[in-house]
Amino acid sequence: MIALHQVSKTFSTPGGPLQAVSSVSLDIGQGDIFGLIGFSGAGKSTLLRMINLLERPDEGTVTVDGEDLTKLSIRELRQRRLSIGMIFQHFHLLSNLTVYENVSFPLEIAKVPKADRKRRIEECLETVGLLDKAKAYPAKLSGGQKQRVAIARALANKPKVLLCDEPTSSVDPQTTGSILASLKEINEKLGITIVIVTHEMNVVKAICDKVAVMENGRVVEKFDLREAHIVPQSPIAQFLFQNEI
Ligand code: ATP
Ligand code: MG
Repeated sequence: MIALHQVSKTFSTPGGPLQAVSSVSLDIGQGDIFGLIGFSGAGKSTLLRMINLLERPDEGTVTVDGEDLTKLSIRELRQRRLSIGMIFQHFHLLSNLTVYENVSFPLEIAKVPKADRKRRIEECLETVGLLDKAKAYPAKLSGGQKQRVAIARALANKPKVLLCDEPTSSVDPQTTGSILASLKEINEKLGITIVIVTHEMNVVKAICDKVAVMENGRVVEKFDLREAHIVPQSPIAQFLFQNEI
């Protein structure tokens, strides 16, 4: 579903060029829940943002659903991005809009007719169990509810892929459980491929099928969590698996 081939990204900073991602290749299968784990600054968010070309790689190719996104025009890319949803650590809901209007927003951008929007919005809110909050403003919701609204909004245009950048990093463990349950449900019921960036091994163990461990812009090791015995080789993977931070 997603194939990154030798992607690299260097940022220019006041201190000189900074290579955030170095020659990473990854294959993420249709329907997988794929984790990207590593410490702060490892390049996880940059790599995730390259999947929908929010960051354009300096080198390499990004293929999503059989199409190399790096070859597309801006207009084509905007269209393709509709089938790639994204959620963030701090939810990024529009605070002056209700829950209903937040979910409506991407549908308006996609020029979905108003008559069709209502049903779709209700469907998405139903999926995350928040139909009863349609008229509420984000400020009245708990962290877990806000993230579930963000998931509903990301689902509005029926994406094939959902990118999640630290979706549970600003909520308590119990709320983490409810967000992960929503993600698992949409993966199983709707077949959406999910990529989840985290620094928490308990998140990876709770829902991921596979995980790539990143350090200094590189993928140092990959694991299939469905295998019975996982034997990390690199010091960082050993640390992450042992400490479950
Ligand atoms: P965290 O866990 O803290 O979110 P991360 O693994 O997501 O970290 P990235 O945000 O991808 O890491 O950043 C990788 C490196 O690239 C860091 O050194 C960061 O400072 C740098 N970086 C990221 N975005 C930019 C940018 N727009 N301009 C300059 N440097 C950047
Ligand atoms: Mg990050």
